[in-house]
Amino acid sequence: MNKKNKLFIASKNKGKIKDFENLFKSYEIESLLDYSIDDVEETGTTFTENAFLKAKTISEELNIVVISDDSGLECSALNGAPGIHSARYAKDHDDLANNKLLLENLKGKNRSAKFVSVICLYYPNGDHYLFRGEVEGIILEEFRGTGGFGYDPLFFIESLHKTFAQMEIAEKNKISHRARAIEKLTNSKLL
Ligand code: IMP
Repeated sequence: MNKKNKLFIASKNKGKIKDFENLFKSYEIESLLDYSIDDVEETGTTFTENAFLKAKTISEELNIVVISDDSGLECSALNGAPGIHSARYAKDHDDLANNKLLLENLKGKNRSAKFVSVICLYYPNGDHYLFRGEVEGIILEEFRGTGGFGYDPLFFIESLHKTFAQMEIAEKNKISHRARAIEKLTNSKLL
């Protein structure tokens, strides 16, 4: 059996890690879930700053090449919220509470939104590269589908007439913000 190369993802988010495993099938994915290391505190003010911070901190701690993703949902009617606060919009990493608060705050407002992912590839010598992916959608008024994580049950892709939670993981990962950022990383031939 061929031994796969390893890729280290600086995250403890199981949904995100599942996406990475699907997007990087030829690699063995390792993450913060495999180590007793705390998640990095996200003190930046942008996706880019936080992606950089996460990758740099873990790369320096473990002395390995690291990939991080800082991502979130931006709603036009909420001036880009929840944005970098997506994971903790209502409560610490409580997806249901976050989704309910989003529905509450969007009542009677325009529903257009986008998911953003910024990926940082960081080498222990300090070299680093950033890649950004976005996907536009509509926030529904009720949940649809049971797959995915986070805001997936509310995020509706008009052209496919489905939410991310109604898609197979491979279908989501053809068009998702994360897939688009990773496509840029792959095209860069840095890996
Ligand atoms: P981060 O770990 O600080 O990057 O937080 C990302 C948060 O954004 C997640 O916890 C979700 O709430 C949201 N999010 C990012 N990407 C996705 C996705 O692909 N589907 C659903 N929610 C997402």
